[in-house]
Amino acid sequence: MKIVFATANKGKLREAQEILGEGFELLTPTDLGIMEDIPETGETLEENSLQKVVYIHSRTGCDCFADDTGLEVDILGGGPGVHTARYAGSSKDFDDNMDKLLQEMSHAENEASMAREYGIATPHATRRARFRSVVTLILRDQVHVFEGTMEGKIALRKSGNGGFGYDPVFVPDEYPGLTAADISEEQKNEISHRGKALRAMAAWLREHAS
Ligand code: IMP
Repeated sequence: MKIVFATANKGKLREAQEILGEGFELLTPTDLGIMEDIPETGETLEENSLQKVVYIHSRTGCDCFADDTGLEVDILGGGPGVHTARYAGSSKDFDDNMDKLLQEMSHAENEASMAREYGIATPHATRRARFRSVVTLILRDQVHVFEGTMEGKIALRKSGNGGFGYDPVFVPDEYPGLTAADISEEQKNEISHRGKALRAMAAWLREHAS
């Protein structure tokens, strides 16, 4: 089946093609002559995911899907969440984003430990976090939503050359001591937020699209 993936992110595209397999031929907005950045101005992952897919569907009329992903860190109150892509600024630079994350976590941990020294009860500091992907599909003008999460914690420093985005600082629960950038793409796809959401979409499409 031919379907448009509303993304310009090469890492996402590579993973989606691998996860969905040969039954799906993925086209991108660029393949259809849409070269501009797709707006993402929503206040939640759900809003952004819908905004991206509607933007492409309204211009092409094609069946398409979008993925909006956030990193939710407990000690940062669930942040950066919907601000994950532009955490360190509009350039969306992966290294700057990870550096800012490690810095913010270190501040938050210091504040929590100072508060405890003064006898102020604070939630116990952990580095627990999760990636959450919201995939929105428009098939025959109807909207369908799929979701997946990957639980883990934030490493103290970057490690690994695989994956993309924040993978070098994310340690999935299934691979203690390794980051999502240390494991193979196959291992990541098996347990990842995107893997879970896209496999759910593929199963639904196999049942309803023919
Ligand atoms: P968006 O879904 O394109 O808005 O991306 C949100 C941010 O999360 C970007 O900085 C991505 O690089 C990052 N991101 C999305 N998926 C992953 C992933 O699987 N691993 C690591 N970072 C990711």
